Amino acid sequence: MKLPDKLVKLKPYDPITGSYAVRLDANESFFDLPQVLKSKIADQIEQLSFNRYPDPIATEVVNAFAAHYQISPDCVTAGNGSDEIITVLLGTFMEKGQKLVTVSPDFSMYGVYAALAEIEVVTVKKEDNLQIDMNKLIAACQQANAVVFSNPCNPTSLGVPRSDIIRLIESAPDCLVIVDEAYMDFWDETVLDLVNQYENLIVLRTCSKAIGLAAARMGFAVADTYKTNLLRAAKSPYNCDSISQKICATVLQERTLLQRCCDEIIVHTQQLYARISELVRRYPDLLECVYPPRTNFVFVKTAYAREIFEQLEQAGIAVRCFPNGLRICAGTRREQTILLSELERILMPY
Ligand SMILES: *Cc1c(COP(=O)(O)O)cnc(C)c1O
Repeated sequence: MKLPDKLVKLKPYDPITGSYAVRLDANESFFDLPQVLKSKIADQIEQLSFNRYPDPIATEVVNAFAAHYQISPDCVTAGNGSDEIITVLLGTFMEKGQKLVTVSPDFSMYGVYAALAEIEVVTVKKEDNLQIDMNKLIAACQQANAVVFSNPCNPTSLGVPRSDIIRLIESAPDCLVIVDEAYMDFWDETVLDLVNQYENLIVLRTCSKAIGLAAARMGFAVADTYKTNLLRAAKSPYNCDSISQKICATVLQERTLLQRCCDEIIVHTQQLYARISELVRRYPDLLECVYPPRTNFVFVKTAYAREIFEQLEQAGIAVRCFPNGLRICAGTRREQTILLSELERILMPY
């Protein structure tokens, strides 16, 4: 049997497995839920009827999400992580053979899902400083059906200001602009509030990063009510299970806790950035630069990414390796101290 050509280069996503003393590779929150909140959730889960299908539109979660971000619940579609939402968006709003613009480097899954949907991907390369050339991106979008990118960006940690996003939306009115704001809780240039103003805008959010619920698999598409109704019709009806819905609805209501965790994560990220900047100054031949982060991770540009990555791995520290650098996410104070002293130990002999 011959399988489709689009599967030839497909390989399973390769998250780091094995046991590491320090895990700074997946951009997760370093805060687990407080035990009292876990117990409260456990009590609520006990009340669920496990024999019944979940609420298809995840009403309680959608309401809690909308209240948290001060938007209308009629604009929100819940998905099994924003990863699922991306596949549903491409399958709903694009046709086979249409053009999707991506930027590079960016979140690698966009290209994977597009290939499976037989969508043509047009990639706009970022500049040497890893910034997007907005004029170049706009020109590409004017010739395409949709564009998707993360803002702030994974893996670069850099952000595109809201005014530039608006210019893009307005300059390419026939192009669906999908802005993946997975890390926007750590920055303040969101365009969430504009989905009713621009017909060609969809914003993605997730519970996996600042909200600290990567285990629960919950992501959101925010769009005008017309597109939201289409998305709700196109997704599989029971995509978010009752247990995850309960967990996320409960946590999204914990405003004070969420704000405190987010603030703390930003402080740790800035500390990581400051300490790695010092290393860049001391070892300019080994580390090219570290970018001022708008996220919960930093990106260190280095020609020695692979070598440093492997040595960190041997020391029980997981980070994410890219061809031109390392992505290191904020951890607890203890984790960051271990990371920084190991980095220093690795760089010192050179
Ligand atoms: C982590 C991340 C997501 C989140 O994916 P989930 O499926 O919601 O866990 C989405 N987009 C980007 C750019 C990310 O880095």
